[in-house]
Amino acid sequence: MNRNALLARLARQPDWDVIVIGGGATGLGVALDAAARRYSVALVEANDFAKGTSSRTTKLVHGGVRYLAQGNLALVREGLRERANLLRNAPHLAQPLPFVMPAYRWWEKAYYGTGLVLYDVLAGRSGLGKTGFLTRDQTLQLSPTANPANLRGGVKYWDGQFDDARLAIGLARTANEHGACAVNYCKAVDLLRIAGQISGVVVEDTETSKRFEMHSRCVINATGVWVDHVRDMDGSGGAQMVAPSQGIHLVVDRSFLPSDHALLMPGTSDGRVLFAIPWLGKTLLGTTDTPRQDLEYEPRAFEEEIEFILRESARYLSKAPGRADVRSIWVGLRPLVRPFESHGGKTKAISREHTVVIAKSGLVTVTGGKWTTYRAMAEDVLEECFEHKLVKRRAAGVTAHLALIGAPEASGIAISAPPGLHLYGTDAATIAGMPGADHELAPGFTEAMVRFAVRHEFARSVEDVLARRSRLLFLDAAVAASLAAEVGRILKQELGEDFDAQRSVAEFGALAKQYQLL
Ligand SMILES: Cc1cc2nc3c(=O)[nH]c(=O)nc-3n(C[C@H](O)[C@H](O)[C@H](O)COP(=O)(O)OP(=O)(O)OC[C@H]3O[C@@H](n4cnc5c(N)ncnc54)[C@H](O)[C@@H]3O)c2cc1C
Repeated sequence: MNRNALLARLARQPDWDVIVIGGGATGLGVALDAAARRYSVALVEANDFAKGTSSRTTKLVHGGVRYLAQGNLALVREGLRERANLLRNAPHLAQPLPFVMPAYRWWEKAYYGTGLVLYDVLAGRSGLGKTGFLTRDQTLQLSPTANPANLRGGVKYWDGQFDDARLAIGLARTANEHGACAVNYCKAVDLLRIAGQISGVVVEDTETSKRFEMHSRCVINATGVWVDHVRDMDGSGGAQMVAPSQGIHLVVDRSFLPSDHALLMPGTSDGRVLFAIPWLGKTLLGTTDTPRQDLEYEPRAFEEEIEFILRESARYLSKAPGRADVRSIWVGLRPLVRPFESHGGKTKAISREHTVVIAKSGLVTVTGGKWTTYRAMAEDVLEECFEHKLVKRRAAGVTAHLALIGAPEASGIAISAPPGLHLYGTDAATIAGMPGADHELAPGFTEAMVRFAVRHEFARSVEDVLARRSRLLFLDAAVAASLAAEVGRILKQELGEDFDAQRSVAEFGALAKQYQLL
């Protein structure tokens, strides 16, 4: 169903069991869970699906090696369980990824190695591969560009990797296939109340500025770092719930890490870890953790963050990347939850990672957590809704074993598709039969993919296509910018006369500049 058909449905059906505000990982996970239990569900996303934090991650499906060091084993176990669920339910979008952690000091191999063996043990049958100790030669064989000076060996372990934005689109499509109505470019601009209790949402179609009302007793605020804006509409009161923290990534060519193994750099000067990760033919370097108060959709990196990543990478890589090597730079905001006494209303900290708050009005707010655990978060949200009688308890959750759209039934099908198409899973065959399948705009990116993005993936602009259906903006912003006019032309054919191609191309050009380190 395309966006117009979804909008028509929103207009036809004023009453819903559940309304979700926000189409990132959290909101889409809730919409799919509720739809799969046969509730009527609408989801409104102010921008494009995953335009917020959910397209700007390190692309790891992980239990969180970092939480091991903090001794938070329950959290690690939850992450590892969800890692296995995601890899099983969306094998075209999430795969196992081996990591090498090089050791430079005498104690590092034993210290980190023991932790990583425990990580493997905690994964149990969901483990992706055995943690192992590496000699110096083995370390350099797997990570040829690891800095050889004083290298003593290393540890190899396994985690998962995914395409975040494409997973979000996959969730939206799967939710809609199960009867939900998840629509992008529809912003919640006000909340409706009857006798102090939430009764619905006022929504604005941001393409036409047309407003309409949607009704439900169960309204879920899943707007990431923006949850406090929606809580303000509710007059929920209380202190701010989220303390945003910025993380940036730099993307450089594969020659800086010519390996299928990611590199975990453990001892950065800020006491965190830094990753160098192979992703779609490039290398991602990241990330940072910087408090940030303003909530821009496209925040800019701080100069110190760029210098930090380049400096730390130079310590661990034999070929040090410089500013001129950066193909793309992107910035995301983590929705970190403040201590929960201060939220106002009844609060339940489900885990240290994510939090669900039910306001006096009945507005449900969920935030925190990580992409990897979106499915478990959704189950927790639904459970809270049942306990507070916002919806009647019906069927049990089924998403642990629910394959997402495009998931190949027999593993291996998606992987064998040509580069670019492998991310589409079983949809690869549809794309291969569409007009423009043979017309490559860039390696692995065809005209047919642009048409598919409009017809099946709700794309509405050049940015939607080049940033989140294809990931070119995140991989090489200059190349993405060079394709904008051609993508605009194809979009015009698909979206019709109302589509302002010139404006969409110009807006993308300006955005792509921000993703380049000039
Ligand atoms: C730098 C960085 C690296 C990370 N790396 C990883 C990783 O490797 N692995 C991992 O598991 N997790 C990772 N995370 C965490 C993960 O990205 C987040 O936990 C997750 O994406 C949050 O999703 P969300 O849906 O809550 O927020 P968002 O993705 O921001 O979604 C909220 C949505 O709400 C919409 N919205 C806002 N206001 C309104 C309104 N009024 N009406 C309608 N819609 C509205 C926004 O447009 C937005 O799309 C990382 C985070 C960062 C910042």
